This record gives sequence, structure tokens and C-alpha cells, in this order.
Amino acid sequence: MNQNPIPNSFREGPDEDGRFGIFGGRFVAETLMPLILDLQAEWDKAKTDPTFKAELDHLNTHYTGRPSPLYFAERLTAELGGAKIYFKRDELNHTGSHKINNCLGQILLAKRMGKTRIIAETGAGQHGVASATVAARFGLPCIVYMGATDVERQAPNVFRMKLLGAEVRPVSSGHGTLKDAMNEALRDWVTNVDDTYYMIGTAAGPHPYPEMVREFQSVIGAEAREQMLQVEGRLPDMLIAAVGGGSNAIGLFHPFLDDKSVRMVGVEAGGKGLDGNEHCASLTAGSPGVLHGNRTYLLQDADGQIKDGHSISAGLDYPGIGPEHSWLKDLGRVEYVPIMDTEALEAFQLLTRTEGIIPALEPSHALAEVMKRAPKMGKDEIILMNLCGRGDKDIFTVGKILGMGL
Ligand SMILES: *Cc1c(COP(=O)(O)O)cnc(C)c1O
Repeated sequence: MNQNPIPNSFREGPDEDGRFGIFGGRFVAETLMPLILDLQAEWDKAKTDPTFKAELDHLNTHYTGRPSPLYFAERLTAELGGAKIYFKRDELNHTGSHKINNCLGQILLAKRMGKTRIIAETGAGQHGVASATVAARFGLPCIVYMGATDVERQAPNVFRMKLLGAEVRPVSSGHGTLKDAMNEALRDWVTNVDDTYYMIGTAAGPHPYPEMVREFQSVIGAEAREQMLQVEGRLPDMLIAAVGGGSNAIGLFHPFLDDKSVRMVGVEAGGKGLDGNEHCASLTAGSPGVLHGNRTYLLQDADGQIKDGHSISAGLDYPGIGPEHSWLKDLGRVEYVPIMDTEALEAFQLLTRTEGIIPALEPSHALAEVMKRAPKMGKDEIILMNLCGRGDKDIFTVGKILGMGL
């Protein structure tokens, strides 16, 4: 039985209940439902309001520095000896990753709703930093829930959040990682219904978050599409992006989903290999279930207990995945593959040495896939990869592994 009838357009989801085929939806406590419906009503108004769009465009241009460049990686292309490789350089954004695209959209929404307190969850700390940044910019107090383990692992980002005026609340339930932080943030939201806005950091969670975050991140793909047409006079043959919760990937993919000639690859964290539990490949090695308000592919055991994944990059360390990716996987529109820690580390070093760009460990996973694919493709073919974050936050991790005396 095919539960996912092929849609006329891959870009038309979700339906009014937030479903992408059998995925997505709104699995939340009854107390949260009025909040979710409020948010949805405001989002429905905002997304067609030219004032909202103008304000967001202005901030994207003057605060973040958009459009981010489309860069032809000439030396890397020569080194790999196949397809032409282009990067969408979202690592050049203010705060160093694509997270700011989403946070600016959501803080404008929070303001429209008259909310006076921002809460957020964070894993590696990139979304926490972006949330604290926009909260400072708009003069609102910000509380960031962060797993206690991550607080230790990601000390520089904790320090940045505090400098920006945010309060970081360590969460020690579970394994003290992103999943636990998200549970705690949802709990806070239920108890502070009137004044609080919950800023989710990826294209997951209950409807309308997956759609909303996708729309804010689609600026990546919309710009890249236009830039590519300008530079090459045609669309790329393949898009490649790293997938944690899936926001930067869906942001790149979505504007191209109906372009049949464009193949797409999402790269998950294969960690230390898919045999054991030390990976975070929810789509490749997981199964459908419900987590954080939506149905999607998850890493879970036979009893439905969520497993704690592993990745060298804390930003890919999420046992779920945005529901739209689950849908695109089952439809076969996007291919999802794992990349191991060691492969990502190698890619990190290659890019640093050939192009003088230190990437974050998350897009290093995407780059490792580029390294596999490009040599097998023709010199007249084009790969476009989302370089979604810079590596400043990762130099200590990498330095330690490489024995550089840090
Ligand atoms: C947070 C983060 C990710 C993972 O999140 P997505 O929602 O999958 O994009 C990937 N790369 C970087 C640089 C990040 O900061």
C-alpha cells in the first residue's frame, strides 16, 4: 500500500494539519494546543504580509549580510577531477551559520504576537547563539535550554550566549543532550503560555514549525538558484547538504524540488558506523515514530525508547529529523546517505588546505559526500553544496583529534 500518493508538486506540502504524507502533524499536549494554533494564525497572516517580508528582507541584507556568495571552488574541483563544485556560502552569515535566517524570521513573528520572553533549545550552541543574538537585537530576555553534557562540550558557545545576555539553563535529564533540552523547552512553554515565544532551531517540531522554518531557510535555495542561473546559465545537476534536523538542507532543496533534472543528496551523521548505536542516521537506520510533536523517522529501540545518537559534530547529533525529509525520502525525491566521523574530518582538512576555508564539522559531512561523487561525474556537470557553517567553533575538537597540542 502506498500511503504517500505522488504529489503534483513536491513543494506543496504540508496540508492544513501539517502533514507531509504520513509524517509531520501536531502531536502535543492539550495545554499546548491553543499556543500552537495562535502561532499558526499569526504565521498564516505574516507569510502573505508584504510588511513582514520587507522587514525580514531588510534584516537579511543589512544585519546578516545576505545574499551570501555563490563560490566556484576552483582548486577543489581540480583536485577531485570531476564535476564543477560550487558552495553556497552561508558560513559567511553573521553568527557563522544558517541559523540566523530562521531566528530573524521567528523573532519578527514573536514581536507581532506581543511576546516578551524568548526560549530556545540548543545542541552545539549555534542556534542558542543565533537566538541570543536576535533577542539582544530586539531587546527581549532569552533563556536557552542546553543539555548539561553539551554545556561542557561547547563551552565557547555558552560563553557567547552569556555575553549576549541570555540565560543558559543546563538540562541534566536523559543524557543531557539536544533531545533533553528540547523536552525542557516544551515544558517551559506550557507553563509560560502568555508571554513566551518558543524559537525552534530546525525544521522539526509540531506544525507549523517545520513549514515555517523551511520558509525562512528557503532564502538559501532561492538565492542559489538565481545566482547559478546568472553564473552558469543553467541549474546545477546535484545539490548536497548536511542533515541534522534538516533545516539548512530543506532550505537549499525546496526551491529546486520541482526541477526534475536536479538530483539531491542529504548527508546524515554516520558517526562511528551504522552497526552500533554511535551514529545519528535517523533516515538511513531509523524507523517512523513520534518525537517532539511530529511523526518522522527516529532512532528508537524496539520499545520506542529514543536512542541517544553520536556524531563528531554536535550539530548533527539529533535522533529525529524534520518530517518533510522523511516524506521526501519515502517518495524517493531526495537520497539520504551517511558519512562517518573520520570521513568528515578528512574533508574538513581538505577544504581548509585547498580553498583556505575552515568549514564547520556539519558541512564537512556534506563535503565528504562531494569528494565521493564529484570524481565520478563529468567535468561539464555541476554540484552545489551548502557550506552552512564556519569552523571556528570546531577548531578545538579537530585540533585535539589531530594531536595539535590544544
Ligand atoms: C545546527 C547546524 C546544522 C544542523 O541543523 P540543520 O537543521 O540540519 O541544518 C548543520 N550545520 C550547522 C553549521 C549548524 O549550525
